[in-house]
Amino acid sequence: MSEIHRFLFEGQPVRGQLVRLTGAWREILRRRASNTQTGAYPQAVTQLLGEMAAASVLMQASIRFEGALIMQIFGDGPLKLAVAEVQRDLRLRATASVAGEVAPQADLAQLLNVTGKGRCAITLDPQGRQPGQQAYQGVAALVDAQGRSLPTLARVIEHYMRQSEQLDATLVLAAGEQAACGLLIQRLPVQGQGNLAQSNVAHDDDADDDGYARIAMLARTLRRDELLALDADALLRRLFWQEKLTRLTPAAADAAQQQPRFACPCSRARMAAMLRTLGRAESESALREQGRIEVGCDFCGRQEYFDAVDVERLFTPTQDAPPVARGVQ
Ligand SMILES: [Zn+2]
Repeated sequence: MSEIHRFLFEGQPVRGQLVRLTGAWREILRRRASNTQTGAYPQAVTQLLGEMAAASVLMQASIRFEGALIMQIFGDGPLKLAVAEVQRDLRLRATASVAGEVAPQADLAQLLNVTGKGRCAITLDPQGRQPGQQAYQGVAALVDAQGRSLPTLARVIEHYMRQSEQLDATLVLAAGEQAACGLLIQRLPVQGQGNLAQSNVAHDDDADDDGYARIAMLARTLRRDELLALDADALLRRLFWQEKLTRLTPAAADAAQQQPRFACPCSRARMAAMLRTLGRAESESALREQGRIEVGCDFCGRQEYFDAVDVERLFTPTQDAPPVARGVQ
């Protein structure tokens, strides 16, 4: 069962979160593998997409944004696009599109930043966004300040969180066929030091005082195979047995809401709305070529078909539809 654990370090301005996606992650892989057009993901893509899913859950769980957190990578290598999307209640979905051969041990740059044109964007899309209302989008750099490729997604997201939240973060990620996992350690803002925390100088001077540096260093000793194999109790004991750690147990009702699980909000109605956006001429032209329009969802594999009658109905105002109010706000 997929799960998320939160904990605090007593007396230290440091908090942690651990996510283990098992059922939800396997469901994403199973749906992809059963798609006869694409087949299963190459190993390196499975690993990256799983890490994106785990990182997105950790970020959403730490900010609890009222809407969707969407992590997108637009690659210029064999990985063209990868998307992980997590709702506030931790429903999640993820997909990737790949063109060409992927070496089994391909690193991040070989996978998606071959010519330096790869991009990673993180979008916060408010729930029930009105037309014209903007989603907030930030860009996570794939290279460090010196222009060197960051070796892992974990480093990319750490940099991003440090810049966007002005708080130190240490992230360890790992994913395989059975699980996608992540450990996030964050320094909390110290009360009354809000201004100091934003200054890099003060940041570095404080680094050793508040235990964050020690706890982050312990977190970094976690190996990928340990992160994938150990349960939460064993893992936290292995890393932090000398620290005073308090596990936060959410209220039972909240826990059910906060369980990461696979869900795709796509529907035939949304696909129909997309065809309407495409327009009548385009839709009818597609209909003439293939006899019916096939619309597929990359996230869950749903396939819907629209024939001539369906398309006609899409572009014909229905009798019982409420009249469109004009000039009334
Ligand atoms: Zn879907």
